[in-house]
Amino acid sequence: MAEKIYDAAIVGAGPTGAALALGLAQAGLEIAVIDARDLSLPARADRRNFAIVTGSWRLLRSLGVTGALEDTSQPLNGLEAVDGGTHYFGQPSVLFMKEDMESPDPDEPLGHMVMAEPLQAALDLAMSDETRITHLSNERYIASRQAPGLIESELESGKIVRARLLVGADGMNSPVRTAAGIATEGRDYQKSVFTANVHLSKPHEGIARQLFTPEGPFATLPLKGDRANLAWYMKRGAAETLTKQPIDAIEAELNARFSGFAGDMRIDGKPGSYPLILQLATALTAPRTILIGDAARRVNPLAGQGLNQGFRDVGALIELVQETIHLGGEIGSPQMLEAYSQARHFDGTGTALVLDGIDRLFSNDLMLTKPIRTLGLMAASKISPLRRLLARKASATEDGVAGPLAGW
Ligand SMILES: Cc1cc2nc3c(=O)[nH]c(=O)nc-3n(C[C@H](O)[C@H](O)[C@H](O)COP(=O)(O)OP(=O)(O)OC[C@H]3O[C@@H](n4cnc5c(N)ncnc54)[C@H](O)[C@@H]3O)c2cc1C
Repeated sequence: MAEKIYDAAIVGAGPTGAALALGLAQAGLEIAVIDARDLSLPARADRRNFAIVTGSWRLLRSLGVTGALEDTSQPLNGLEAVDGGTHYFGQPSVLFMKEDMESPDPDEPLGHMVMAEPLQAALDLAMSDETRITHLSNERYIASRQAPGLIESELESGKIVRARLLVGADGMNSPVRTAAGIATEGRDYQKSVFTANVHLSKPHEGIARQLFTPEGPFATLPLKGDRANLAWYMKRGAAETLTKQPIDAIEAELNARFSGFAGDMRIDGKPGSYPLILQLATALTAPRTILIGDAARRVNPLAGQGLNQGFRDVGALIELVQETIHLGGEIGSPQMLEAYSQARHFDGTGTALVLDGIDRLFSNDLMLTKPIRTLGLMAASKISPLRRLLARKASATEDGVAGPLAGW
């Protein structure tokens, strides 16, 4: 019997690969999902929490996974920012609230704070129910080669997977990108983000709060039950060292620095740290190959845009595949790859560079930049059309390049 030829082989069943597999299978395509992780086991412990903007939430809802996330997700109602000098915690600027989004549904929030583990579990479960998805889990992709009308992927186990299109959703070190000969560019910020979940001493009302310090931002992102996910940006090494301290020492440091901004905080669970890196693939496609998510770009998590950008890749690719089928075109054709590249290159790269600019602007205490950024925060909070624009960009309910502070 001839080997099966899939419409698409997706390497990586992280949030972007899994969402794409579901969307393409629901569009009627036969999909192979290859992941080094054993998909029958629970996802590895992941303490991250994602600020999922409205556009991404709508994608997840169309894939049928939001029902499983409602109990653990916190709706986001607004964003406040404070330009803090070394010691000063000023008055917050309310950048925008959900009302600024002007959604036809007045109850629709700006987005949701979603915990990484329930998100992955919901996507894994939905994939396992989908008969058009073949799981090749616990399998490692190593290389691919072109064949007439298709691309063949070789797995470490010796298996060969044949497909019309190969999608690299395999994260920032993407072996698919390497095998396709696509280079990357970017920079290492020499900073890391310290993250922890905390109980807050006062209600957060679904508001995300960011304080800009000379080192970088400190943010409290609201979680269910008046808890928050902290993101504290520090020099490389400092965040890693802090996570190794006893919990009461970390709490003391946090409260000494930030209780004036966030109220008293009590740590809930184990803290973690992640290095900050900007990495952009120099191309999003190669013959019969497309990159999505962190394989395409790893952005500064300053504005929580990484996964939201990945979900925009997913949405664009699902739409493109549906259009290709509708017009009788060929999955994986040069025309389809070019259309994907055009749809996603500017938005993804533009957002990454805007975030890089914000990082440079806010991560210092220079007299020159402080008035500019303070004016920026004031303008954003005081000028209604600007607030509304930021809110629509933040929630990704409007197309185009996500603006500064969009999506946090
Ligand atoms: C501290 C922090 C906070 C963040 N907060 C936010 C936020 O609030 N909002 C937001 O939008 N984004 C956020 N991000 C960014 C977000 O985490 C990433 O953009 C997202 O996880 C990328 O998903 P992905 O599916 O592209 O890749 P990954 O999640 O990295 O998945 C890659 C998959 O590929 C598989 N794989 C790798 N190599 C192989 C191989 N050879 N063979 C088979 N499989 C392979 C892996 O097993 C894995 O399952 C944050 C990031 C950090 C570090």
